[in-house]
Amino acid sequence: MEAVLVIDMLRDFVSGRLQCERAERIIPNLLKLLSAARRCGIPVIYLNDAHLPVDFELRRWGEHAMRGTEGAEVVPELGPVEGDYVLEKRTYSGFYETGLDPLLRGLGVDTLVLTGIHTHLCVRHTAADAFFRGYRIVVPRDGTEAFTEEAYREGLRYMEEFYGAEVTEVDELVKRWEEEGPKTFK
Ligand code: ZN
Repeated sequence: MEAVLVIDMLRDFVSGRLQCERAERIIPNLLKLLSAARRCGIPVIYLNDAHLPVDFELRRWGEHAMRGTEGAEVVPELGPVEGDYVLEKRTYSGFYETGLDPLLRGLGVDTLVLTGIHTHLCVRHTAADAFFRGYRIVVPRDGTEAFTEEAYREGLRYMEEFYGAEVTEVDELVKRWEEEGPKTFK
């Protein structure tokens, strides 16, 4: 069973304090991927930065995605719908102190489709933790972005080489899921 992880597609990262213009390009692709996932019974899990003022990470980046602010909200186009899961994180990895691992185990998930931003940063760190825990990793190349083309390419290359990630495309995943038909929980 797969799950789709949507990492940090938040207002502050797409259009706010840590704006990444390239992130806007993946929104339509993610919409397509998420609606297919929901149709096929594949869990959708948002992993959202939600910082407290004491967080050590702010020393590196300054204030961003502060818990409870507008900047910490998922961009409205992608907003979670009923049945999706939303977890808050306070540093790069979606596994670090978030309860993600027990959620995935409860759902019977063994394969993670990683999407969102940034390919070389939060996506890559989440991939590392997924790898350490034995999850299989799939990354649609048109479902992730980074500040620069170089960072994007390097992120994909690293996950492919060191975590054995399958790098594919949104349309490829949608096609696969639709051929397999709706999943049922075991
Ligand atoms: Zn952060």
